[in-house]
Amino acid sequence: MPELPEVENTRRNLVRAGLPGCTITGANITWANTVKKPSAAELAEGLKDRTIQDVQRRGKYLIFPLSGGGPAAFIVHLGMTGRLRVQPQSQEPDPMTRHFFPLGDGRELRFVDGRKFGKLWLVDSPDEVLPVMSPEPFDDDFTVETLAESFAGRKAPVKALLLEQSVACGLGNLYADESLFLAGLHPERPASDLSIEEIARLRQAIIDSLTAAYGVYDRARDQDWPDPPTALTTWSHPRDVKASCPNCGTNMAAIRIRARGTYFCAKCQV
Ligand SMILES: [Zn+2]
Repeated sequence: MPELPEVENTRRNLVRAGLPGCTITGANITWANTVKKPSAAELAEGLKDRTIQDVQRRGKYLIFPLSGGGPAAFIVHLGMTGRLRVQPQSQEPDPMTRHFFPLGDGRELRFVDGRKFGKLWLVDSPDEVLPVMSPEPFDDDFTVETLAESFAGRKAPVKALLLEQSVACGLGNLYADESLFLAGLHPERPASDLSIEEIARLRQAIIDSLTAAYGVYDRARDQDWPDPPTALTTWSHPRDVKASCPNCGTNMAAIRIRARGTYFCAKCQV
């Protein structure tokens, strides 16, 4: 599933492709259930002749502010497998392309979505769509104090809370595991039991894991544009119980937390 680095990477790719400033000349929605608001027909009509002013991101939502003349925000959530590409209209589309948004310059914004969990909205304001989210992990207001506040009084496993967008927006299963590994914290620790020093370590680990991912994507973008990897496969710990911890050599352990596969080192993460 795309997590914050993957969505941010998509955003950077779209900016790099020159999408801001392009005018949408129509929309071909082949799977109407993707459109959450308004109807698919209204969304297609509402996007016509609108100019994309910018490509923004909040959490895992991509926001395209549009020029005047209708609802101001086109919003995309990539779901489990969604990818956005800008390609010439003449180029054969990926067979999993579900939606096509032709642009005035002869290209097309294409939404490839194999499993069809993606979502689209055309609304007056992102507030109509976006859930309550924590500060962005790279923003100054993502502090030890805000994280401690989110954990206060909550006995749920720390890993479970890291998956909540109101605690660490944009973090998903893989980066939550990575952050806990880097911080040396057991994923089943009750969040409210973490000391302020441990929370500070965790906050830094979240930033470090995301920074590392951004770096990988930045390098991939230079080499492979327009098709860098959709998800990282290199982690500082193996996601495999047959593999050993790179720090201590103990075999990695696997459990499920909130139905999500969780890999950790029982010796290093306490
Ligand atoms: Zn270890």
